[in-house]
Amino acid sequence: MSAAATPIHIRPGRMWRGDDRAVQSGMTLLIEGNRIRAIGSRAQPPGDCEIIDLPEATLLPGLIDAHAHLFLHPYSETSWNDQVLKEAEAYRTIRAVRHAHATLLAGFTTLRDLGTEGAGYADIALKRAITEDLVPGPRLKVAGRAIVASGCYGPARSLFRPDCCVPQGAEEVSGGDEIVRAVRHQAAHGADWIKLYGDYRVGPDGETTPTFSEAELRAAIACAHDLNRPVAVHATSDEAMRRALEAGCDSIEHGYEGRRETFTLMARKGCAFFPTLTARDAIASYRHGHAEDDPHSEAMRQIAITFRLAIEEGVTIGCGSDVGVFAHGTNYRELEWMVRLGMSPHQALMSATAINARILRCENSFGRLEPGLCADVVAVKGDPTRDISALRRIELVIKNGVVYRRPEGTS
Ligand SMILES: [Zn+2]
Repeated sequence: MSAAATPIHIRPGRMWRGDDRAVQSGMTLLIEGNRIRAIGSRAQPPGDCEIIDLPEATLLPGLIDAHAHLFLHPYSETSWNDQVLKEAEAYRTIRAVRHAHATLLAGFTTLRDLGTEGAGYADIALKRAITEDLVPGPRLKVAGRAIVASGCYGPARSLFRPDCCVPQGAEEVSGGDEIVRAVRHQAAHGADWIKLYGDYRVGPDGETTPTFSEAELRAAIACAHDLNRPVAVHATSDEAMRRALEAGCDSIEHGYEGRRETFTLMARKGCAFFPTLTARDAIASYRHGHAEDDPHSEAMRQIAITFRLAIEEGVTIGCGSDVGVFAHGTNYRELEWMVRLGMSPHQALMSATAINARILRCENSFGRLEPGLCADVVAVKGDPTRDISALRRIELVIKNGVVYRRPEGTS
């Protein structure tokens, strides 16, 4: 679908623009082609255009989830091991197409997909199909296969007889030369970001240990930066976070065990943090059988402490949910968690719009409602700056000037 030939004039009850301004009422927004043409207070549309009236809704920039896995589906349906080992890449791609559609309809117009988890470079093909309008989906920034230290990811080989060849969830490398070669290959295949796993549960008792040395991380990151690819590092332990920061990474994923000094370092280095709160909650609830979205669970009480440290130390906190662990199209749960654990709704919304756009280096393309930017615009019933759960009630989704979802009762 290409952008409509007729301009679109939207008259929402309220508008939130993805900047420091509070919600405004009585504002209108005009889309021409794939751009936001004008924002103002004129109620009268200019000349020939389509009018969308949303008196009960708040208009906001298209939402961004910067840690997603379109090639996974909830582990409560199929374990991660079984998805990687038993589901063919073609099957996983068909699922990913459906996941991308659900995500877009939920108001998420951009995703950073951080690794196909064993589905090769299918994310790059999916990104192409979305860009070419073959299938509907959010605009994608992708990481391809992602990179892990040899023998330091899953499915665990110890579950199989030693002479089995066990497919892995990412590309395995050891040493500076191999890691640099993998970075170059993945960039050459079309990775926008390089994803490295800085630690994993590979200790003798299944405990988390660092997987790459600082020297390996430095080599990979220097190479990626030469190729203009930012680097995201999976790090749950404090030691892996520290190594990744010293090596110059651009974002840290998870950071569940980060200490205050490490968040201070993160803020000083200008590295972005994606706390992936919902994944933590979902995995704990799958494991222990408790209800989801419960801030009193052991896992979430612990993570609340590190999340607060990151806020106190002034770290740039993006919104990245690790969706795929839980159902696609429910990415809004991450913003709800951010608010539950101490952010204001305004802060959480900033993370999922303007701040994520800046982390993705796309702040001049999208992430705010501003004339000249891409027309990525969503509307929700209610006011999400007062009640973040309003994000569950999506009324309108426009990506790049194309309407993908309209208020019920309109055509
Ligand atoms: Zn992830």
